Amino acid sequence: MSEEEEKDFLIRTGINCIDCGGALKKAPNCLKCNKCKRKYSRNKLKVWDFTPKQKPAIYLDFYKNEDYQKWTKVFEEQEIYDWSIYNSKFKRVFSKAGHRILGRRIKRSIKDDETLVEIGAGGGALLDEFKINNYLGLDTSMKVLAVLKKRHPNATAICVSGRKLPFQSSSIIHLVSLHTLEHIYHLAEHLQEVKRILKQNGKFYFVIPTEGGWAFYLGRLLFTGPHVRRKYKINAHEVMAREHINDARRVLKFLRFYFSSVKKTFWPISIPILSINVMIYGFCKNKKET
Ligand SMILES: [Zn+2]
Repeated sequence: MSEEEEKDFLIRTGINCIDCGGALKKAPNCLKCNKCKRKYSRNKLKVWDFTPKQKPAIYLDFYKNEDYQKWTKVFEEQEIYDWSIYNSKFKRVFSKAGHRILGRRIKRSIKDDETLVEIGAGGGALLDEFKINNYLGLDTSMKVLAVLKKRHPNATAICVSGRKLPFQSSSIIHLVSLHTLEHIYHLAEHLQEVKRILKQNGKFYFVIPTEGGWAFYLGRLLFTGPHVRRKYKINAHEVMAREHINDARRVLKFLRFYFSSVKKTFWPISIPILSINVMIYGFCKNKKET
């Protein structure tokens, strides 16, 4: 899509100014906020920069951990050159199961003219699963969004902060978040935003790992932990305690706080016990107006 086409698409989707919440209008070479006059345009990576002017000031001490800092660099590189764990077919079956399953469901329920918004889109792994006309990918990393845009030129990519989402209230009907909620420190604030932008009849699809259960702990102890230690000299437990700041129970609890219905399925064994599964997928709905 050209920048002009993307401008129309963004306005149709209900894009807002990230700083003041004002409506955006088409202007020459940009979208312009009605209220604060901030201008938005695609940068040279063809990504829209919607990071707020006022960056959140807090940076907690435990995120300054040396292993964690090292890991965030590795992580970004891996998103860019595709996850090395996807190289083995067996591991791919596990790590991309959520993309496959939710991909199929979304494809079934989305109409041709409807838009899918993905939070934490990364390099566009979900788009590898199915073709879609109107797709908007959000992420906090400009680098990985550049990859998404290269791999899927018809997708629209927006760099955001995660806490605030640049859309009008009740504007989005299909919202998806894969392996993202477990990372977000301000989970409640984030979900409040998700709920705000979701239409009454909209759906919020999610996938989270069964963090906090034995399967995940043992997997890390026996496989990913030693691998990461060998390859990058990083302590995986130290890193993941921070990276997956929300375990599955906490995420599910907050989903229940914010949504009137939370449909979930455990995978690969559909008995709802954390310790024998590796992932939980499902969708949430806003309360129906009566
Ligand atoms: Zn504004």
